Amino acid sequence: MQRTLKFTVQFSVVGLAVALIFLTSFAHAQAPLVCDASTLFCPASKAHSLPDTLSAIKTPNVSGPVKTRVVTYQVASKGTITVDAGTFAAQVAQTYADPRGWSRLGVTFKQVVSGGQFTVVLAQADSVPTFGSICDTVWSCTVGNNVIINQDRWLYASQTWNQAGGSLRDYRHMVVNHETGHWLGHGHEQCGGAGQSAPIMLQQSINLQGCTFNIWPLQSELWSTTLGIRS
Ligand SMILES: [Zn+2]
Repeated sequence: MQRTLKFTVQFSVVGLAVALIFLTSFAHAQAPLVCDASTLFCPASKAHSLPDTLSAIKTPNVSGPVKTRVVTYQVASKGTITVDAGTFAAQVAQTYADPRGWSRLGVTFKQVVSGGQFTVVLAQADSVPTFGSICDTVWSCTVGNNVIINQDRWLYASQTWNQAGGSLRDYRHMVVNHETGHWLGHGHEQCGGAGQSAPIMLQQSINLQGCTFNIWPLQSELWSTTLGIRS
């Protein structure tokens, strides 16, 4: 009787273990693959079967940089500002945090109260020229460590932009990325050809030169002399 009980217990334990392994494998196989912008190593979307999963692991689809480097900035204003300062800072932060933006350089932009590496200045249009001779009352500009956003452009985008149907939010992404591009060490770029995506360093506010709107840096623009990052 004791022997039979022992055998039964052993058999039950083994059976339970087998069932658990089976259920665990089944659950794993059915687990959905969740990949988004925050997923650093995302298996290819075709990875539904075991062989595909294994091959995907060998060649991971890197969907974002490993953000190890922090670039600090502060937000300031100049002149009479009608824009809500909190909204301005929040939207600038969104642009910098977007995985399609300059974060692809492998950096994380962090707003600080003071002592930042550069300053994003929201400036009344009439005060923009006070930053330097390359600045005027119409456009935004960057001088030294000041990335200056013209309040009129922040509020109204530009005629070229609006006539082409661009949204105000996209204009704001574009102008922050463009001016920050200057701080990163970029000059202006030309359109690469009719119908191509505009480089972020093309002066899209003024003339698209046949390119289509693009509010994020192109792959070819992912370098920064200021930060010592090569393409
Ligand atoms: Zn520019």
